[in-house]
Amino acid sequence: MLPDKDGPGVGGGQSSPEGEDPSVSLFRDYLRLKTVHPEPDYDAALRFLDRIAEELQLPMKKIEVCPGRVVSIMTWEGTNPSLKSILLNSHTDVVPVFQEHWKYDAFSAFKDAEGNIYARGSQDMKCVTIQYIQAVRRLKAEGWKPMRTVHLMFVPDEEVGGHKGMETFVKHPEFQKLNIGFALDEGLANPGEPFTVFYGERNPWWITVHCPGSPGHGSRFVENTAAEKLVSVIINSFLDFREKEKHRLNTSECFTLGDVTTVNMTMVKGGVAYNVIPAEMDVSFDLRIPPTVNLQEFERQIKQWCKEAGEDVTYEFAQKHMNQNVTSTEENDPWWSTFSAACKAMNMTLEKEIFPAATDSRFIRAVGIPAIGFSPMNRTPILLHDHNEYLNEQVFLKGISVYERLIPALASVPAFPDEA
Ligand SMILES: [Zn+2]
Repeated sequence: MLPDKDGPGVGGGQSSPEGEDPSVSLFRDYLRLKTVHPEPDYDAALRFLDRIAEELQLPMKKIEVCPGRVVSIMTWEGTNPSLKSILLNSHTDVVPVFQEHWKYDAFSAFKDAEGNIYARGSQDMKCVTIQYIQAVRRLKAEGWKPMRTVHLMFVPDEEVGGHKGMETFVKHPEFQKLNIGFALDEGLANPGEPFTVFYGERNPWWITVHCPGSPGHGSRFVENTAAEKLVSVIINSFLDFREKEKHRLNTSECFTLGDVTTVNMTMVKGGVAYNVIPAEMDVSFDLRIPPTVNLQEFERQIKQWCKEAGEDVTYEFAQKHMNQNVTSTEENDPWWSTFSAACKAMNMTLEKEIFPAATDSRFIRAVGIPAIGFSPMNRTPILLHDHNEYLNEQVFLKGISVYERLIPALASVPAFPDEA
């Protein structure tokens, strides 16, 4: 796309490096804002978004969902604003960097000779934020108007679990008022030619198993020790199950990480001295469970393992998500069929997957709104949260054109019978 097609001011009034597409310059400006944990500069992001809202001439609402945690929403009102709206969601925060492992300053948005832009957030997910913005800018410049209202939402704290961001905001009256019918949120890059789309997520369960046992002196064969229960039953049961799931992933061609349960032993606690047999030992696991698993049955299995270890063995959850809502990808679903038809019209191949980790989409789906996780990046290695995260400028620019087609398609989904 030629820069002059968009008219003046497309890059937001910033001076662009010679010959660079103004959208790329805007992307790099945004990447330089240090919205990085543990102390994200959210004020810088809000100032940036204020400027964008002014350029796009869209009203922007700011809702402080928790102290210092603001959700911003730019609203492009539709010609039929009573219909359900389209949400374009993105988070403004990024995860920390280990600068010593980076080739370039992670907040300099350095662009190499191949056009690869290195920065924390280049994939996750500042690219998508700017792609939404530039697509809307182009559509407005072309004089196009949406039938359904389109909201661009910018949320904080996704990378620390969304508790002070989307999780709280979905219960806020201002969220309800948005009257959202369908949401787009982040996905992952695809190293090949296709694009990956996510229609569900695995549920994280963080569990600690407490194994009490007979204490005693370290010089004797004490019976019924905590360590025996911990190792021969609990750890073995969890890790045997882990092997089975790993095997399933490696032997079934259609399986992705999102289709299997991952199990990792992450903490072991207990003991006070070399010669004292402890009265309790604890072990913790990080489990990620796909929406296809019967969660009640799965917990019964855990209970059974504990029982086998000993009647006094107990467990507790630090985190136990039970929401198994998935977004329909059936051809008779009006949102999905519109989304997939628009992609097909652009010759894009889609690969449908369950998201292996967690995003804010889970909170959106939990309140009954269909959401697709989609970051239009193909031919790109998956580098989110990794060292040397980068995105090629051509892939980035292509993504703007993708949203330039997707937004009109979704905003034109005809009124449903219950909307009339
Ligand atoms: Zn993200």
